[in-house]
Amino acid sequence: MTSPLSIVSAEPQTSTLQLHGMLFSEIEQLCRDQQIKPSHAERLNAAIYRHRNLDIAHIEGLPHNFRHWLAQQTQPIAAQAISDQQSQDGTRKFLFRMEDGSDIETVHIPTANRLTQCISTQVGCAMGCGFCLTAQLGLKRQLRAAEMVSQIFLAAQISGQMPRNLVLMGMGEPLHNYDEVSRFVRIVTDPKGMAFSPRRVTLSTSGIVPGIYRMIEERLPCNLAVSLNATDDATRDQIMPINRKYPLATLMRAVTDYIAAYDHKRVLIEYVMLQGVNDSLADAERLIAWINHLGCTINLLPFNAFHDTAYKSPSIETVSQFRQRLVEAGIVTVVRESRGMDISAACGQLQAENSNNRD
Ligand code: SAH
Ligand code: SF4
Repeated sequence: MTSPLSIVSAEPQTSTLQLHGMLFSEIEQLCRDQQIKPSHAERLNAAIYRHRNLDIAHIEGLPHNFRHWLAQQTQPIAAQAISDQQSQDGTRKFLFRMEDGSDIETVHIPTANRLTQCISTQVGCAMGCGFCLTAQLGLKRQLRAAEMVSQIFLAAQISGQMPRNLVLMGMGEPLHNYDEVSRFVRIVTDPKGMAFSPRRVTLSTSGIVPGIYRMIEERLPCNLAVSLNATDDATRDQIMPINRKYPLATLMRAVTDYIAAYDHKRVLIEYVMLQGVNDSLADAERLIAWINHLGCTINLLPFNAFHDTAYKSPSIETVSQFRQRLVEAGIVTVVRESRGMDISAACGQLQAENSNNRD
């Protein structure tokens, strides 16, 4: 547990500027409006996104008047680190409380040679998937791009580490908050700023089909992951209500169109395995039929349990037989290790537990 930390990177609730939610083109425009040289836009952008310095008074080399103006226009608001828990496996879960009392969770997941950060895109989620604890919160509110950037900055400030990969797999459905999420993706991948490679940013969706088509149209610079989780509409309707709106055939058409639009780019298919629900060999066959012409990678996620759930995780043998069948069909299949189970940081376990958002 850390002591509350104040940092000038929270989400103002007023209409004041949030520098860390601005695209470079907007920072340039802001400088033009203030009759400030373009080189200062570069400097300001680098200070924010490369040095993570949001303390205007300490940004070197900007004209005094401009700094003064910025300090007045950008009202720094404190976000507090409410908890910082470390798992035995090195996974670290941070809980941040924003000024309006909303709590946001983000997770650092270290592997041998890189750090991945799992970003939340909403407070709660409206999608209602039966196997996911976040669903129980309902949607409390959308997160702004600045609040997604804040998760990176705050966790880096506390841990001293910047991630190499970003996965939008925390609380929330990214395509249900498309505008702010796309702004975030463009900010983090801007080569003049944080410069994450688009190959190292992955957006995971439960299957909001129009959002997938927007990603194609707007060439959103990131990877796509789709949480399929079932191989027939009756089962998917039951565990993922979004399927009633965008059934499997419609979703898989969108995935096919995405792959074609990006010239055979690999899409990640996530599949949460629930004992007796979607873990049979008949499911494996149907899954193969859905994806074997698409060149997708599959991540199998054995269900991570939480309190008051009737779902169970399949046995290791069931998972291994399921995987074996997919591998035999030539599909690249990875069983995703559950990381951070002991601190409830694994997939589907995020619920901002110390939150005052609970009903
Ligand atoms: N809303 C997005 C991203 C967040 S969920 C989505 O649904 O894709 C991230 C991943 O965790 C999804 O693949 C989801 O299916 C999976 N997940 C949710 N609850 C889980 C649980 N209890 N055990 C294992 N994986 C879970
Ligand atoms: Fe929302 Fe994803 Fe959880 Fe479904 S699995 S409730 S879409 S966060």
